[in-house]
Amino acid sequence: MAMSGLQIQKLLPKTNCKECGSNTCLAFAMKLAAKKASLSECPYASDEAKVALALESEPPVRRVPIGSGGDAVGEETVLYRHEKTFVNKTLFAVEICCCDLEAEDVLAAIRDYRLERVGEVLTVSAVAVSQSCEDEGCFLGLVKKALDITGLPLIIHAWDLSFAKKAAELAKGTRSVIAHVNEGNADELRAAAEEFGHALAVTAPDMDGMAELTSRLRDGGFNDIVMSFQTHSMAEAFQTNSIARRAAIAHHAKELGYATLRYVGRPPLKEPRTAENELDILMRDTARAIVEVNKYGGICVLPCFDPAQLVTLMALRLNIFTDPQKPIQVEPKVYAIGEPGRDSPVFVTTNFSLTYFLVSGEIENSGISAWLVIPECEGMSVLTAWAAGKFSGGSIAKFAKESGLEDMVDTRSIIIPGYVAQISGELEESLPGWKVMVGPQEAGDIEGYVKAVLTK
Ligand code: SF4
Repeated sequence: MAMSGLQIQKLLPKTNCKECGSNTCLAFAMKLAAKKASLSECPYASDEAKVALALESEPPVRRVPIGSGGDAVGEETVLYRHEKTFVNKTLFAVEICCCDLEAEDVLAAIRDYRLERVGEVLTVSAVAVSQSCEDEGCFLGLVKKALDITGLPLIIHAWDLSFAKKAAELAKGTRSVIAHVNEGNADELRAAAEEFGHALAVTAPDMDGMAELTSRLRDGGFNDIVMSFQTHSMAEAFQTNSIARRAAIAHHAKELGYATLRYVGRPPLKEPRTAENELDILMRDTARAIVEVNKYGGICVLPCFDPAQLVTLMALRLNIFTDPQKPIQVEPKVYAIGEPGRDSPVFVTTNFSLTYFLVSGEIENSGISAWLVIPECEGMSVLTAWAAGKFSGGSIAKFAKESGLEDMVDTRSIIIPGYVAQISGELEESLPGWKVMVGPQEAGDIEGYVKAVLTK
């Protein structure tokens, strides 16, 4: 349980000196409990209070950075997204085995994969390099290629300990993950992780074994851990992830307060794909990955590079990990759709990302170039923004003037969404010299509108 204001007050000097800006120590403690103040604002806080509150402010699921590009797993504080938000999205890695003859092509494809959706660029986050033969040169060769070609962090899995340690050294400084760390190899792999700056993915046959191993590593001073549970069905994976996350967040079980890593193409080994089983395997692995995205997966290792599968998973992930309290929005400005000239049509809509991308996409589909005016609407959709007074004739006119639209175009017609036809009079009054045209209600009807009204 989080500490209450009264519990925090007992750790403070109780002199009510007011130097923190609060009238009493209790008032300051209440602010600390509500996370509206920092203990550093009290110059007289004891070391005991600092340690207690530092522990208190740690997220129940530890943050572990992966790679050097700002990715991380963990740092979560809630069980359900609507309670606050999820902080770090599930990272996707693609597995390559060392005997894979097409490894270089696959690595180049992973490097080049780039999906743009509602203004966000989505990419693969890591390469999982797995030992599949006894040849050290084969495995380390793959490690080098993966680092050189993609520049991504690795998930290193080698059953030969010396291979794993050499791979960790090659990947020094990339904040990679050494996988399959168990009771027997934990000490040696921990030393390699510490020396070369990596995290460890620990595994154990059951939850108790996992808790024991993470506690052992943490008590020994190593805490960059993710948990790789051994599960044998989708239901078990769902259940295990849920139990661990609930234990960490609702019951403050520090030993299970870590993100997870799962190879969705197993157990026990990757099945070779054939023409007969390819679709079944793809669907099964996609379903397993969906469970990971939906239920607390930290790193999800996909067994092969499949752009169609990635599109599905990336879109799902975007939905789950979008902050529900912050509508995704685009920058308010005048956008050029295609190559518009001074006489091109001018459309206006709100800066809710989905609205912007639907409308701009439909204008493109209609085959014309146009200007799209996007005023500040706090990321609301058309009707919501209108109801909230953020998308009115006055506000659109003000934005059009401030954005320099009148100097950019000779056109003096502006097309508003059909759902807000009622603002046309106010907009014409606020934007003298302009004719307001009422466009379709739905973005999907823009193409027909263009043909019927603008290019007939
Ligand atoms: Fe209490 Fe510290 Fe604030 Fe003074 S500065 S009132 S001791 S909390």
